[in-house]
Amino acid sequence: FNVPTPVNEPVKEYRPDSPEREALKKALAEFRAQETDIPMYIGGQEIRTDKKVRVAPPHDHQHTLGYFYEGEAEHVKAAIEAALSAKENWANLPWENRASIFLKAADLIAGPYRARINAATMLGQSKNAYQAEIDSACELIDFLRFNVLYADEIYRQQPNSSPGVWNRLEYRPLEGFVFALTPFNFTAIAGNLPTSAALMGNTVVWKPAYTQVLSAKVIMDVLQEAGLPDGVINLIYVDGPVAGDVIFNNPDFAGIHFTGSTGVFQQIWGTIGANIHKYKSYPRIVGETGGKDFVLVHESAEVDEVAVGLVRGAFEFQGQKCSAASRAYVPSNLWPAVEAKIKQFLDELKMGGTEDFTNFINAVIDERAFKKIAAYIEEAKNSNEVKIIAGGNHDSSKGYFIEPTVLLVDRPDYRTMCEEIFGPVLSIYVYKAEEFTDIIKTVNTTSPYALTGSIFAKDRYVVEQVTKQLQNAAGNFYINDKPTGAVVGQQPFGGARASGTNDKAGSALNLYRWVSARTIKETF
Ligand code: GLU
Repeated sequence: FNVPTPVNEPVKEYRPDSPEREALKKALAEFRAQETDIPMYIGGQEIRTDKKVRVAPPHDHQHTLGYFYEGEAEHVKAAIEAALSAKENWANLPWENRASIFLKAADLIAGPYRARINAATMLGQSKNAYQAEIDSACELIDFLRFNVLYADEIYRQQPNSSPGVWNRLEYRPLEGFVFALTPFNFTAIAGNLPTSAALMGNTVVWKPAYTQVLSAKVIMDVLQEAGLPDGVINLIYVDGPVAGDVIFNNPDFAGIHFTGSTGVFQQIWGTIGANIHKYKSYPRIVGETGGKDFVLVHESAEVDEVAVGLVRGAFEFQGQKCSAASRAYVPSNLWPAVEAKIKQFLDELKMGGTEDFTNFINAVIDERAFKKIAAYIEEAKNSNEVKIIAGGNHDSSKGYFIEPTVLLVDRPDYRTMCEEIFGPVLSIYVYKAEEFTDIIKTVNTTSPYALTGSIFAKDRYVVEQVTKQLQNAAGNFYINDKPTGAVVGQQPFGGARASGTNDKAGSALNLYRWVSARTIKETF
């Protein structure tokens, strides 16, 4: 049984008057013209409650995109029951039948659903067309296709046998159900976390962020059309603590696939630890959490490359990526040229709603994020240790807009160099070129995170030195490139320290976590 060899889905450009731009405009207009009804999906049934919650575009918060229905503890229980009763048939299905469903889902997104899922991501999460395309189309398609390849690799791994003895490894799914808790910032991650566990034979309760429900619904529509049996993935919208209370007290809880904040993940880990005697098996805990991702610039770096890396790394999707460049270290002899280039690039970037295809910067996700990010900027304005190099303005009257903001800080342990802001704020510390060795140490120690990081240098000895010395400072390390934009099948993604369990998304390393192997020895 040979699985199709995947290639990365080509990124469409949405040039003016191109057929893909026209299709996308049509899908945007359709979502705009109606109020989308967003039910939960439990055991294949659409579930509506009397708690309707309004969904609005972050860049136009007075417009209503639709309503989702918030559930209670009873819906979490029903979702667990649906997952458990779908389990046996799903787990026993020959795996290529499971794979076919996800391959078909990938084809549906690549074709008839492409405009719809991108439009949902553009409107619901304020991604511009390009960012939506690389996320909700290409990356999600890639996850679905490459995971099939990796699953095949796993299932083929077998132990040695000898005359008279035949040894086998049987890759069973986990016993119980898996909980997928997914973030707003990548539709691809929201889609990958439940489907990767399901591909390996697990059934899933999926709780997305409330700010991603529109594109979550499109994913569910796709999975249903692809033939996913009822109950394999159950999509619920329930308040975090309410859902957690039911899920983490259930003896059949078998694992969590999480992407979100470090604080929530640590809290969940503590709850699971406190309940450990209740479970039938030790639950798998797989999480990708925060980041405070660095860009270290050496004096041998090329200025234009650095400026492009900083602006794209820090400000694409308004910096709302765990991988976003948020602290940079620039040598004083390059700083004037880097500063001028950054300012020039930022002057060229337009800010506004996603439906105007020329805007690079859009709104941040919601009011809470807006207030948190704005507070960091206001504090910086009032500090005599910081100079604002670019941006600094914010306005939430129509949408949650924050200008891309660059802070020049006086000391490398200033707050914005250490804490995750998750918004369009880049902090830069300018060091004296001769302090380079000390700066490497500073990069390694000023933040608890270790997700992504970059070195910009043309000097190969420096590249080697930094790669070695920052071995544990980033799970994804980039040489002369921005620290964002990992591609499935090319750069498996994940970090260590406070950034997660480093079970690389988009690789077999992740899928191994969703199986519990049985060794079978047979003697003749
Ligand atoms: N995989 C994304 C990247 O490489 C980041 C994912 C995240 O922000 O959670 O930029």
